[in-house]
Amino acid sequence: MSFSLAIIGRPNVGKSTLFNRLVGKRLALVDDQPGVTRDLREGAAKLGDLRFTVIDTAGLEDATDDSLQGRMRRLTERAVDMADICLFLIDARAGVTASDEVLAEILRKRGTHVILGANKAEGRAGEAGVLDAYGLGLGEPLRLSAEHGEGMDELYHILRPLA
Ligand code: GDP
Ligand code: MG
Repeated sequence: MSFSLAIIGRPNVGKSTLFNRLVGKRLALVDDQPGVTRDLREGAAKLGDLRFTVIDTAGLEDATDDSLQGRMRRLTERAVDMADICLFLIDARAGVTASDEVLAEILRKRGTHVILGANKAEGRAGEAGVLDAYGLGLGEPLRLSAEHGEGMDELYHILRPLA
């Protein structure tokens, strides 16, 4: 496990789908270890010849609307502090939302190493959202489709130097 990667983002952008793709069936191994909380799921990720720890910020989905913003902030800050690098996902089909802006602000302020991912970018439906993502001030967005496995080679090449 050479480094840890936290997958950050508001609910429904595809964090867990990407987590599951990276972890496959290896979650069971780490699930039994202490320190794995309900809100931050940790797994042993495999991407090509890279092996690293991946953290999914779960536990947002069951928050009520009132508590969502605060929870999202706190969880994101915890995940950012735990991880060497963050993969911040937006939903390219939905475009950049107010919640995405809030999280981007946290990431910019912490000065953490961020990869910006525009997920759900398969086909053409995500084109406008990908362009939108440049406006977050977090660099060039990486086009991803967690569901269809697109963008994984590009992600590999970004992560490779960190291993
Ligand atoms: P999370 O709340 O950020 O963990 O998001 P989930 O991983 O639970 O995904 C939310 C929804 O988006 C689910 O219905 C997924 O099937 C869907 N989804 C995830 N990744 C993709 C993708 O790459 N493309 C499309 N079209 N849908 C996706
Ligand atoms: Mg999830």
